[in-house]
Formats: sequence, structure tokens, C-alpha cells
Amino acid sequence: MLRIAGGLMARYVFITGGVVSSLGKGLASAALGALLQARGYTVRLRKLDPYLNVDPGTMSPFEHGEVFVTDDGAETDLDLGHYERFTGVSARQTDSVSAGRIYQTVLEKERRGDYLGKTIQVIPHVTNEIKDFLAIGEDEVDFQLCEIGGTVGDIEGLPFFEAIRQFAQERPRGRCIFMHLTLLPYLAASGELKTKPTQHSVKELRAIGIAPDILVCRSEHPIPDRERAKIALFCNVRPEAVIPAYDLSSIYEAPLAYHRAGLDQAVLDAFGISPAPRPNLARWEDVMDRLTHAEGAVRVAVVGKYTALEDAYKSIAEALTHGGMANRVRVKAEWIDAEIFEREDPAPHLEGFHAILVPGGFGERGTEGKIKAAQFAREKGVPYLGICLGMQMAVIEAARNLAGVADAGSEEFDHEKGERRFTPVVYHLKEWVQGNHLVERRPGDAKGGTMRLGAYTARLAPGSKAAQVYGTTEIEERHRHRYEVDIRYRDALEGCGLWFSGMSPDGRLPEIVEVRGHPWFIGVQFHPELKSKPFAPHPLFADFVRAAVEGARLV
Ligand code: GLN
Repeated sequence: MLRIAGGLMARYVFITGGVVSSLGKGLASAALGALLQARGYTVRLRKLDPYLNVDPGTMSPFEHGEVFVTDDGAETDLDLGHYERFTGVSARQTDSVSAGRIYQTVLEKERRGDYLGKTIQVIPHVTNEIKDFLAIGEDEVDFQLCEIGGTVGDIEGLPFFEAIRQFAQERPRGRCIFMHLTLLPYLAASGELKTKPTQHSVKELRAIGIAPDILVCRSEHPIPDRERAKIALFCNVRPEAVIPAYDLSSIYEAPLAYHRAGLDQAVLDAFGISPAPRPNLARWEDVMDRLTHAEGAVRVAVVGKYTALEDAYKSIAEALTHGGMANRVRVKAEWIDAEIFEREDPAPHLEGFHAILVPGGFGERGTEGKIKAAQFAREKGVPYLGICLGMQMAVIEAARNLAGVADAGSEEFDHEKGERRFTPVVYHLKEWVQGNHLVERRPGDAKGGTMRLGAYTARLAPGSKAAQVYGTTEIEERHRHRYEVDIRYRDALEGCGLWFSGMSPDGRLPEIVEVRGHPWFIGVQFHPELKSKPFAPHPLFADFVRAAVEGARLV
């Protein structure tokens, strides 16, 4: 690790947002992380969410986008996915916290009597809990970048803003800086960018004791120097610390664009780090070269349920893009609602696609359509990647149409309806081994706490497509599911050409299935998309896209 002179503790950058939500705070934080890495520093990115859910695990993907899962089994905000994709640093349980979790901890302590009968208050008890969270791993990296969800002025955000103010105050001077993202709206009628909302948002921050060091201003139009100077003057920041942030052709342009705009320099200046180490941006230049110099395109159908909200399958969309970059092609992913195939023949919808992906999901709705998509891919020799529920559906399809289990299904759907309709080829597992210990589920477990979550090892059969794609026979991938393919059907299904080519080390849990003799048909019980990076595309996605390209050339 590279140590800043005299540094024993991390420097903290607190990232907040104002004016409107969805300004891209997560992306700005991730890009800044990448830029600090490019200068040789170690970073850790963290997210503090003011909502009251304990974690996003039980939130609908429609509501909050995808749930990102870490190696250590935390169900977190999708911003942690951005962080990982930009820095390559694996996110951890302690990289994300919500107000719900903080309050839960405080209330548990209160019940245990830890506060010795004191009156429990937001200040200091809640803010102390937030500060303790921030201090985790303080001596591990050069920079901790902590993003506060929501916008300044939100009621539930107040304890977080108060906590970061106190935290900075308690550290030696120059250890913490504040970076605030705002929007400069453009008034077409007068042809002007307006700075007033930014001024107001900074005023709001200052009212609670936080003076931003850096302002990142999102704008759809170029920001004239005159306006930059005005923002600097009225918001009490240096003109070079007013960083313009324009719309980008790809999120992966963000590190280079923010570097050109002077963000990393402004951050190092704010910390007084001089001379600053020179950045090596080769990784991001290569990423952009691959993105902008793609030769041709392939079409991938993603047959899923949460197709209405782009963020619901964020990591899958990104992993497909990475797969395209590995092959120097553009991947055009088209989202198709699986329910359509329950009413209509999938063939006319799926013909013309070079590959089919069925992603993860929960609940029965749309599953018969996903089974039809898997059948189409298997019979027509179209590359198929089934992820989690997408693997389970591929197994059910094979059980029904190849192994003669006409009513094969998943216990998940019977549980949902409260009646027995299917032969459970996919069933609810009650115990399993993680590392050296046994994990058990009890029927009354809370909804969020019953899943197989986080990193698990799988052994791959030598000679399988899976082993060939990974280039190894032992892998570790992230899980998030309750149900498992039942190995009691293994012999019957393998007799029909469905190879259980990846298994848990104890041989009890199927992790990967593939169709023998098919150009490319792989189902995985885990979520490979969570580990893909633009500079290190996941091998499954890279090879899936390669197969799509190959198929496209054959036609
Ligand atoms: N609903 C399925 C299960 O719980 C699949 C979950 C998923 O696709 N992430 O096993």
C-alpha cells in the first residue's frame, strides 16, 4: 500500500448531492476512486443510505433497482456494483449501511441495556453509531470515499449529515473533505444555465455545518467560465474546484472525463497533497478504445420479469457490455417480458437474436415464458445463459421435455400459491455447508434472512464447457437464492444430455448445468454478472458473447 507522508489514517471524501436526486453521485464516487487508484493510492468506497429498510434485500427491484450482493453475503445498494466495476475492489458487508440498520443497532443496544438507562437520542447515539461505521477500516487504505444517499435537506438524511460533520471535526485538520454534486438547469427561453439551485443547496449544507470543498456540477450545456467563477464566489469554493460534469456516451468514460475536468487534481489539492503523483490512465484508455472501436454488433434477448426498469438488471447489462468489449463488438441487449411467451409463440420474438439470456428473479410470474425461452434456445442451438432462476428454468425445461417429468416445477411457486402443483425438481434447501460450518434454515426465518448469500466455491468437471470457459476447475461465485436444483434428478437429466458440470465441493448442490452437444448452453446457480469489470470482463459473459458472434457469422 502506498502511504501518504505522515498518514496513519485514511483521508475521507464525503460525497453528497443536492438540487435533485439521480445526479450520478455513485458514478462520480466510483470514477474518483478509479482516478485515485490511477495515481497509485488505495481506496475504499462506501455508501450510507438514509432509508429505513434494514437493507435493500427485501425491496422490489422495481422500487430500488438491482440488489448487489457482496462476497461476504451482504445485500446492498446497486451503487456498490458501480464501485466494484470501477475500482476492482470487492465490496464488503461493511461498505454499506442504511438508517434502518443504524437504528436497529441502536435499539438492540438499548434493549440490552448498553446505554445504562440513558435517554436515547439522535445526537449522540445515532450519530455515534454512524461515526463508528465510518471509522471501520480507517487504517487500511489511503482514501475512503463515503457517499450519502438522497439529497441534502431530506429529513431522514439529517443524522448522516450531522455525523459526517462531527466525524470531520474530530479528525486532525485536512483529513476530510466534502464533495457536493448539484445540477445546473438550463433555461431554453433565456438560453441560460441557472446557478441559483446550486447556491441554495450549498446554503442548506452550510446551515448544517458542512462547507463543501468541491462542487461537481451536472449540466447538459457547457458551463462558461463566468458561471464557474460565479458559483465559486457564491458558494465559497475555489474556481478550480467547480468541476463540470456533462452527459457521457458511456459511464466508462467517467474516469477520463472527470480527470479532464480536474476532479482528482481538485481532490488532491483540497487535501494539500503536493506534488501529486502522476496518474496512469492506460486501463481507462483501453476500456474506451474497446468501447468506441467495436467491430459490428450482436443482439442478445434478455427474457425477464423486471424489464420496465433499467436498473433492475444493472449488473447484467454492464456484464454484457464487458463481454462485448472482450470481443470488440457492441452488444445490443433487448429486454423482453417473459410473460409474452405465455400467450404467444416465442419463435417470432426470438428469431433474429444471436443469444438468449434468462436472468435471476423471484416468484412464479413469467416463469412459464422463461421455460419456453430456454426450450427455444436448446432446440434451435442459440447460445443460452441462464442465471440463477434462469438456470432453474432451464433444468425444469429439460426435466419436462427431455426426462419425462411432465409436471416438473419449483417449490418456490407452490409455496407462493400454498398448494402442491409441481414435482419439485427445484426445491427449498434447509441446510448446507459454507466453508467449514453448517448453515441451517428454520421455517419461521424472516424473509430477508433465509437465502444462500455470498461467495461459494464450485468444482467444475474437467473437459466441460464451464471448465474451458473459466480456464480452471475451481471457482468462487456469488449467490442469492433460496431454492436449489435437486440432485435426485441428476442421473435422469444427465442421461438426456444435461450435464451437471459444476457442483458444490460436497457434491450436493448443482452450481452449473450445460447441454452436451449444444453450441453454448450454460445455466449457473450464481450471479457471475456481479463480478464482471470493464477491464476484466467475466469469462462467462466474454465467452457467451463470443458464441453469439460466432453464431452470427454462421448465419
Ligand atoms: N427465486 C429463485 C430462488 O430463490 C432464484 C433466485 C434468483 O434468481 N436470484 O432460488
